[in-house]
Parts: sequence; C-alpha cells; structure tokens
Amino acid sequence: PQDLETISENVATSRTVTSGSRILVFVRLRPMGKKEKEAGSRSCVRIVNCRDVYLTEFASENDYLRLKRLRGRHFTFDASFPDSTTQHEVYSTTTAELVEGVLQGKNGSVFCYGATGAGKTHTMLGTFENPGVMVLAIKDLFTQIRQRSCDGNHVVHLSYLEVYNETVRDLLSPGRPLILREDKQGIVASGLTQYQAYSTDEVMELLQQGNQNRTTEPTRANETSSRSHAILQVVVEYRVRDAAMNVVNKVGKLSLIDLAGSERALATDQRTLRSLEGANINRSLLALSSCINALVEGKKHIPYRNSKLTQLLKDSLGGACNTVMIANISPSNLSFGETQNTLHWADRAKEIRTKACVANEEALQFPVSDTDQAKLLLELQKEN
Ligand code: ADP
Ligand code: MG
Repeated sequence: PQDLETISENVATSRTVTSGSRILVFVRLRPMGKKEKEAGSRSCVRIVNCRDVYLTEFASENDYLRLKRLRGRHFTFDASFPDSTTQHEVYSTTTAELVEGVLQGKNGSVFCYGATGAGKTHTMLGTFENPGVMVLAIKDLFTQIRQRSCDGNHVVHLSYLEVYNETVRDLLSPGRPLILREDKQGIVASGLTQYQAYSTDEVMELLQQGNQNRTTEPTRANETSSRSHAILQVVVEYRVRDAAMNVVNKVGKLSLIDLAGSERALATDQRTLRSLEGANINRSLLALSSCINALVEGKKHIPYRNSKLTQLLKDSLGGACNTVMIANISPSNLSFGETQNTLHWADRAKEIRTKACVANEEALQFPVSDTDQAKLLLELQKEN
C-alpha cells in the first residue's frame, strides 16, 4: 500500500491541476464494527493504492442488478482512505490546505456524506481522545495565527448550527429557530451566536456541548437524529496593508459540515426519488442531490432555494470556494446498497465545476464569465 506521503503528493497534484475549479472528493472506509462482526458480515470493499475503491461482492441478486445499472463496481477518487487511516492523516490530506486558504481570505468547505453509522461524526467531530477534522482544523488555525501574527490582529469567530426538518437552530445557544436572509456576503442566519474562542480544549468542549443540542430521534432519546445536519462555521477576520499601504479588511470563512444520513434519500432513479419526496424524507438532502445534478449537468438554474441546507451551502457548491467532500462508508456487505449509493454520488460530485477560488477583500468575488462557463460546459460534455 502507498504511504501517506504519496497520497499527499497525489492530492497536491489534483489541487494544482484543478486550482479550486472542482470539488475534491475523498472516501473514508471505517473499520468493521462490533455489531457487524457479530452479525457475521463480510467486508465488501477493497481500497487499492489509496485511490481506487472496488466493491468486491454483493449482498443479494437484487444489489447485483442495481449495480449493473450503475455500471460500476470500481471508482477512483482524489484519495481513498483505508480503515487504518488516522484522524490526523484525514485532516492533513483533506482540510489542512483549506485552513491555509482561510488565512489568506479565501473560503473553504468540507462536507461529510454517507449513511447513518458510516463514520461522518467520527470524521468531523471525533472524541476528546481522538478529535476529528473540526477540532484539528481549529487547532491548526490557532497555531498558524500565533506563528504569523505578531500584532494579534486576527479575530476568529465560531458558530455551530443545525438544520433539521427545514428548521435552522443555533447549537451554541439553543432557542428559537433562526431565519435565513441574504446579504452581500451570501446567506446568513440572523441572530446566530458568533463565539470567540481562544484554545483548542475550549473549542472541543463547545462543540461537544453543541452536539448534545442536536435534535435527537424521538424514539431514541440519546441518539442524534440521522436527519440532522450540523454546520460549523469559522470566520477569520484580519487587516493587512496592500501595496499602496491602504488598510484592507480580509475575511476567510471555513464551513465544516456533518450531513444527515444519506440512506433513503439516495434513490438513483428520478421516479423513485419523487415518490420518496412525498414520504417526508430529508428535503434538504434531496435538494442537495438536485443541486449536484444541476451543477454537473451545467444547468443555468441551480435550485439552491429549495431547502435551508442548499441555501446555506450555496457559495460552497457553485461559488468561489475550495470544496472538499468526504464520503464515509462501512466495509460490511450488510450496508452494500448504501455504500454503493454513496460511492455513486461521490463519483458524481467529482464533476461539479466551481468558480476559481479568490480571496475576499472589500470587493467580493467576481462571477465566471459566460465564455468561461461555455468552455467548462464543453469540457464536461467531452468527458461524458
Ligand atoms: P455517522 O455520524 O455517520 O452516523 P458515526 O461517526 O457516529 O457515524 O460512526 C458510527 C460508529 O462507528 C461510532 O461508534 C464510531 O465511533 C465508529 N467509527 C466511525 N468511524 C470510525 C473510524 N474511522 N475508526 C473507528 N471507529 C469509527
Ligand atoms: Mg452522526
């Protein structure tokens, strides 16, 4: 197997080649769980060279037929992490570079996608002993700010919010639902607590508490609802002098998102999709799928307004932002169908073209010109 250095080199190459013009997509396989072992499950996922993912067997004849329709039991991603990969390795490969960008006034977002139990919260939040991407990113951010600023002019604001059943809630200060409105920086939730944090322990404490405030399933009081999305936003503000010695305000925003479980919402065929929609499943996740489809197909109209989640993620998906998706999967053949769907969607997300990521200064982001868009479309068509 390749070591982490090779993966990092591969990913760095992907980043240079695409220069933020597409979403980087990673897969993380978690170890087989105790319950899965007890249920006698076998592993049906093989990762080769930290890049290629193979589905090696089928749970049932039905799965085989579905797989044939998807035309794939082999997928390639920017990197695929075997179950031995540490939290730190995942952080440094997927997110460290986005933290650098935020310190240069760029936006970045990372979202974890996958079925319930596939390892999203472990990857994003982790535990006190084994912190995940959210905590490692903030730790790294503080370290770097300490290293580079002698004048202490960086201000870091954190907010942590939840989208559940099309209601947006503040996880750091639970209360009434928040209302989304649009300002010149994009969509914001009015009244959201902006917490100033100074140390990593404080942040972990805060996020653990925030997670306790996540909506729980009515039937299982201690378990976070598989339909709740959690979004951590870290805003870094600082002032620099430009070439003409004018003071410029720079703002970088990092969004780290632990999405709701993707099971059920992931019907691959439109007809099933529509019937499921009627059955009150996660509207935000469906809307996310529709936006991904529209972006991949190069549609002019992207239906961001269809859900709270897509409104909040608008500038991360199609805007000027470095975006990373981590697809979490279980190795068990009992989760075969979910794994297959997750990989299918992750594969599709590779094709989303984003705008080149530029730093936010007083004047914000310029839109992609029509000719650029036409060129991108042609490229996409050629690839398909
Ligand atoms: P999700 O948030 O996707 O529903 P969790 O992150 O809660 O899933 O993971 C389900 C279970 O698997 C948890 O008990 C978690 O500790 C464990 N787990 C997930 N990923 C890993 C991993 N990479 N290594 C070890 N245990 C993991
Ligand atoms: Mg979770």
